[in-house]
Order: sequence, then C-alpha cells, then structure tokens
Amino acid sequence: MAYDADAIVIGGGLAGLAATAELAEAGRRVILLDQEPEQALGGQAHWSFGGLFFVDSPEQRRLRIRDSHRLAWQDWLGTAAFDRPEDHWPRRWAESYVDFAAGEKRAWLHRMGVRFFPVVGWAERGGYDANGHGNSVPRFHITWGTGPGLVEPFERRVRAGVARGRVELRFRHRVTGLKRTAGAVDTVTGEVLAPSTAQRGTASSREAVGTFELRAQAVIVASGGIGGNHELVRANWPERLGTPPEKMLSGVPAHVDGLMLGVAEDAGGRIINRDRMWHYTEGIENWNPIWARHGIRILPGPSSLWLDATGRRLPVPLFPGFDTLGTLDHIMRTGHGYTWFVLSRKIIEKEFTLSGSEQNPDLTGRSVRDVLGRARHGAPGPVQAFMDHGADFVIEREPAALARRMNELTGDDLIDADALHGEIAARDREIRNPYTKDLQVTAVHGARRYLGDRLIRVAAPHRLLDPAAGPLIAVRLNILTRKSLGGLETDLSARVLTEDGSPLPGVYAAGEAAGFGGGGVHGYRSLEGTFLGGCLFSGRTAGRAAARALG
Ligand SMILES: Cc1cc2nc3c(=O)[nH]c(=O)nc-3n(C[C@H](O)[C@H](O)[C@H](O)COP(=O)(O)OP(=O)(O)OC[C@H]3O[C@@H](n4cnc5c(N)ncnc54)[C@H](O)[C@@H]3O)c2cc1C
Repeated sequence: MAYDADAIVIGGGLAGLAATAELAEAGRRVILLDQEPEQALGGQAHWSFGGLFFVDSPEQRRLRIRDSHRLAWQDWLGTAAFDRPEDHWPRRWAESYVDFAAGEKRAWLHRMGVRFFPVVGWAERGGYDANGHGNSVPRFHITWGTGPGLVEPFERRVRAGVARGRVELRFRHRVTGLKRTAGAVDTVTGEVLAPSTAQRGTASSREAVGTFELRAQAVIVASGGIGGNHELVRANWPERLGTPPEKMLSGVPAHVDGLMLGVAEDAGGRIINRDRMWHYTEGIENWNPIWARHGIRILPGPSSLWLDATGRRLPVPLFPGFDTLGTLDHIMRTGHGYTWFVLSRKIIEKEFTLSGSEQNPDLTGRSVRDVLGRARHGAPGPVQAFMDHGADFVIEREPAALARRMNELTGDDLIDADALHGEIAARDREIRNPYTKDLQVTAVHGARRYLGDRLIRVAAPHRLLDPAAGPLIAVRLNILTRKSLGGLETDLSARVLTEDGSPLPGVYAAGEAAGFGGGGVHGYRSLEGTFLGGCLFSGRTAGRAAARALG
C-alpha cells in the first residue's frame, strides 16, 4: 500500500507546528491533523502569556541579573527533584533543555522575528535553600505579542510548507487509532468531524460525518495534555496530594482532552509520571468565559497576605509566586479547596498580572503606549474588569465588613472578623519594623532590590490598613487545572518508547503529550516559562529526528 505522506503529525498546537515546520523544511511531505477547526490552529499556545525560560539572556544582563548554565541546572534539579527509575529520560531531556535555554534558544527565536519584553519576570521564587525549589534569579521572558506572537513564525513556516506543496492541513480529523504493518506503526485512523464555525477556544462538536485512514512512515503525537479533561485529572490525581478538590476551574480549552494519549498507549507507547501535574492555586472564575469552567491564573507579586479558607496565613515560604506545588500540597491538607489573597488597592494595581494572551491586550497587541500606560495610577483594565465583575472579588474599607462579605461569598462562615483583623494588623506591625521576623516582609524587601520588580511588579511596602492604600480586597482563589508534567516516554530523538524500553517503531512524541520531552522533563515542579519552550524544543527534535530517519 502506498504512503499518503512521509510523516503524519497529530496536533496543530505549538509542538505540532514546530515538528511540521522542521519536516517540511527538510523536504518531507507531511499531513498535519487536528480535531479542531482551522480557526483554532496553534492550540493552547495562542492563549498563553508567552513566558519563556532563558538563561543568561541580554534582557537579564541589562537588568544586572547574573545567571549561568550552572545556576539554572542547580535550580532545575532542585525543582524537578527527580527520584524515580523512570526519570532516566526526563533527566536527560532536562540536561538538553537547559543547554538549549542557555544556548541557542533565544537566538533561534530572534532569527524568526520573535522579540521579548525588556523586563524579565521572576516566577517560582522558591524560598527554600540554595539546592531547593525555585528560580534563584528572574528568568521569565515575556514574548512581545504574547502567545500569538510565538505561534506566528511557526504557523508562517508551516503555511510556507503548504504553499510549496509539502504540507497538507487536515482539520476536523480526530485520531482514534494507530495501526502497525510488519511491526511498525504506519497507519493513523479516525473520524472526520462535522465542519465547525466554533470560535477559537470554544468547544466544537464531536459529531462524526466520516472516517479516515492515512499511512506514513513516521507519526508524531503532539496532542497536548489532559488539563481540559477533569475526569482524567481526577483519575491521575497523585495520592500524595489527597483527594482532588471538588471544584476545579479549567485553565485550558476543552480540546486538551488527553484522549490521544490513550490511543498511543494502546498502540504500545509507555506513559510515565501520570501523577505529576502542574495546576495553579490562584485561579479565578473568568467573568467573561470562553470555554467551560474557564479560570484565569493570577501571576501574583509577593505582597498579598495568603490565607487558608479559615483565615489562617499559609506557612512559610508559601508566599504568592513562590512554590506552586508546595502551596497546592498545603491547601489539599486544609480540607478546603480554596484560599484567599487579602491585599490593598495599591498592591492589586502593581502586583496582579493575569495569565493569558487575551488578558494582556497591550502586550499581545504589541502596543508600547498601552504597556507604558500600566505605570499610570489604577489597576490595569483587565484586572479592573475582574474587580468590577469577578465572582471571587470582595472589596471593602474595613476588615470586619471584608470578613462578612468573604463569608457571604462562600457560604462557609469560616472567617472570624477579629482573627482576620488580627492577622492583618500583625503583618502591618512588621512592615513598620525595619528588622522584622516576618519572612514574607523580608522577601518583599529582597524582591525590590531587583530593578524589574521595583519598577513594575512589587508595590512599595505599606500597611494594608493604611486608608491611603485602600480599600481592602479579598480574592477567593480556586484550583485551576493546566499542565500535565508526565506523558509518553521518549528518548533524546523523541522516539516513543515501549514498556521494555525499546522504541515503538515509527512513533515520535512532542510537547505536553511527551511530558514536554522524555515523559516528564520537569520532574515534580516547573521553573515556569518552560512549557512553550519545551514544545518548541521537543517539536523541533521530533521533526528533525523523523526527517533524518526517513533517509
Ligand atoms: C492561558 C494559558 C497560559 C499559558 N502561559 C504559558 C506561559 O506563559 N509559558 C509557558 O511556557 N506555557 C504557558 N502555557 C502552557 C502552554 O501554552 C502549553 O503547555 C502548550 O502550548 C501546549 O502545546 P502542545 O502543542 O503540546 O499542545 P496543545 O496546544 O494542547 O495542542 C494539541 C493539539 O492537538 C489536537 N488534538 C488532541 N487530540 C487530538 C486527536 N485525537 N486527533 C487530532 N487532534 C488532536 C488539539 O485539538 C490541539 O490543537 C499556557 C497555557 C495556557 C492555556
């Protein structure tokens, strides 16, 4: 039987686009399949904030950040905490990825026209010792144009392949099977779904109007993770984090359904580290949702007081933006699925960034004028919209009124007004104290030694009860599903491996489906900005390796 193409790529997200571009530029014929309609091309990356992990970049150096490969590797290891036999390939991928991030990554993107916001963000600050979790220095580089700005050059390269007759895009093709001929996987089967005008991000129908069967020598699985499928998230929820929360918001569209992973597994691929996931603890209900249960993650500065559902402060070092997984672990032990930020107007104005391209129209639209406008008095427009319409926001002048409204919002009656007042007043006393025993206050002072934080990210320390900084704001924070850190185990050529460690002939995997490389390059935790880059690196690797193997 003849082949329909040299390679078939399953999934038109960032990883699939990167793989397809490499194959086409190597002169291969590729069919790119996606279950969604054409208007959704780019997958999750379109919605992303476009944050990228670089090591020792010109942007860092201009801000006097001294970074190095060695420091980044120390941080990666402390964060990943690899501790399983199946971490063999993930660890090898991590080594290669840190080399990439400290080496050619930025220049490679720059050559494709990608540019970066000059102020580098400091995500996952850690708070433990030098070998523990977290970024020792700021490394979160925001793409100028956010997610769409990063998708653009890869889509352009793929469309150039279409123009040259090397790439065929087939939308509304949902893969449901992989079949072998003489031991090698070379056939992709599935359903052709009814045409859809569903807007990007909204659920498209799953009505099948036909079937398909396509053959190629190489198949690249780039179908994303499981974050949009809460049943799968619950089924894979790690025992160490207790029972999954009753309420979870969705940080990804419905197409992140994880079903293709089961298809690849049925064909013989091995999935590892399923219980490692990266969900956020600062999710707020989108007042203007695009997909079901749509939640937005707050990327917080370090100053807000973080309280559990009963009003008790989270333990050190679980400050905003320090340790996502550690915070999730703690929250799951409280027996309540939500927590609170309590802060001032002054803090929200400077410290709340909302993750997502549509929540940052200034950066996404590449408008210098609008970005500079952030320095003006007042909360950024999208943050103000949440303050006005968001279901999780409570704004009051006095702690007693704030506590009453917090209780009304949840219906749980867990916040004691006097205790809340006491927590805030105690923290405020430490703000006045030039020495302080409160490590969060120390962390805020430390952050402001970094120019980027002082300029746009961390409010000058002040008392929350200072009327000039008010009103007081409480934000209910929900668990928000996002990334799968485990996935199909792959070797350094992105070949999918089987249970016995040998390659599954003909099959490669990239992006979130491959745990961003190896089946779990992040280990347990991420340094952030590592996902998009992981898609690019593993997609590029898979595309190049498949092109080479085709001879
Ligand atoms: C709001 C938001 C903000 C983010 N911000 C950042 C950030 O700042 N930095 C960062 O590093 N990461 C960020 N991320 C994460 C990052 O965007 C994703 O991890 C990454 O884009 C995943 O890409 P992917 O190609 O692996 O998968 P996806 O983008 O999920 O693409 C997979 C594609 O495969 C298709 N597909 C699935 N199953 C099938 C099937 N059976 N048949 C055919 N097609 C199928 C899907 O329709 C989809 O188009 C963010 C994500 C979101 C949602």
